[in-house]
Amino acid sequence: MNLITCRLCGRLFSAARGKICSTCLDELDDLYPKVREFLRDHSKEAFNVEDIAEGMDIDIRQVQALVELGYLDRDAGRGGAGDDERRRKEELARQLQASLDSSAASKTSERTVSTYGQERYGSGRKK
Ligand SMILES: [Zn+2]
Repeated sequence: MNLITCRLCGRLFSAARGKICSTCLDELDDLYPKVREFLRDHSKEAFNVEDIAEGMDIDIRQVQALVELGYLDRDAGRGGAGDDERRRKEELARQLQASLDSSAASKTSERTVSTYGQERYGSGRKK
């Protein structure tokens, strides 16, 4: 049996479904609608995973996990929503993925607060 450490809670579990244990996957399932709602309520703003974690007062790793597991991508790819909304969600998924990539790149150092500030500054455009 292949036991690995859950990257969210740190417990050992059998790695049948990736890097996250079923308990945490259940939590992510609960969390996902709330994140989606949060994003909908703030649809005029640009977000990265840090903004979402901070805005919702949740662990950034849970937001990262949602992105990595494709929750937000899956939502973006679903038909039915208007083209505009779909584009926006695709854009969001791209932004989130990009912020994941950049935080992975700077894993050796503490995550940089400076780029975070720049991104927030850049999202200040309003209608
Ligand atoms: Zn876990």
